[in-house]
Amino acid sequence: MSSLNEILTEISSIRAEAQKEFQNAQNQIELSQIKAKYLGRQGSVTRLLKRLSELPPEERPQIGSAVNLLKDELNELYEKMELKIKKNAQLRALEQERIDITLPGRRQPYGRKHPLTQVTDEIKEIFQGMGFSIAEGPEVEYDYYNFEALNMPKNHPARDMQDTFYISEDIVLRTHTSPVQVRVMEAQKPPIRVIVPGKVYRHDSDITHSPMFHQVEGLLVDEKVTLGDLKGTLEVFVHKMFGKETRLRFRASFFPFTEPSAEVDISCMICKGNGCRVCSQTGWLEILGCGMVDPAVFKAVNYDSEKYTGFAFGMGVERIAMLKYGIDDIRLFFENDLRFLKQF
Ligand SMILES: [Zn+2]
Repeated sequence: MSSLNEILTEISSIRAEAQKEFQNAQNQIELSQIKAKYLGRQGSVTRLLKRLSELPPEERPQIGSAVNLLKDELNELYEKMELKIKKNAQLRALEQERIDITLPGRRQPYGRKHPLTQVTDEIKEIFQGMGFSIAEGPEVEYDYYNFEALNMPKNHPARDMQDTFYISEDIVLRTHTSPVQVRVMEAQKPPIRVIVPGKVYRHDSDITHSPMFHQVEGLLVDEKVTLGDLKGTLEVFVHKMFGKETRLRFRASFFPFTEPSAEVDISCMICKGNGCRVCSQTGWLEILGCGMVDPAVFKAVNYDSEKYTGFAFGMGVERIAMLKYGIDDIRLFFENDLRFLKQF
């Protein structure tokens, strides 16, 4: 038989012990374990209630209410601690998830213009500065405009110089931008001052040739236009494109649609004309073809070749870009390798 005092003493020692344990609980798991230890089915408080029967009946109500009070107190303490632990966990989570606004953001990579577009833009800008406007024409072209009107009738040997893609007997992928010259002259009377940037196609592929490449064509027609005007115009272009110290050299050449014709070399910008691998030790680099418009071309568009003269020139944009940036393989322009494109 337990005595009243014994049980009351036990109640207060359980209270003290439980309060201390609850208050020291660090997390929900510990808290649940402590709850079970005191208030669970086998818990010490529950066991006290079971011992009531050991007491004389008159003492039972007093002990009963003392044990129930303890039970309520501990339940309350449990709930209070549970709330506190939840709050602490929340605060810790907030602390850990705090956003560091000083961290650099993730940048989206910028796109930029393709090097060939950049060079084309630069060429356009230089000639626009000299009063040329931009003309365009179809890439799928009649044989007539691509060849015949440019003084290259069928079976003309000069056609062999250009490896042509034929769509049909009369339709080709244009092999140069020159057919646009004819289209412009058909559409308007002199004075004419245009450049024609665009894609052209030839059946050819190696480190300096691509089956599709870009040209810029130029045409100026007016009264009293001379070879001197052509030289002056190209000199301005070369100096703006490659630098004032660049020298030009005109070599006699042949094109069916110009007479006389010339190829223009510039002094090698890499070795300054002393000779290197890029210029094959010559000190010179070929950059464009040009000449005075052949009267036969004027005849095709009904221009009076007694009254008007003119000059034309044509250059490959890839060639200009390769020289300007020291690129040695034309295929790099078309492989879309970002490591290459990012350098421009
Ligand atoms: Zn050189």
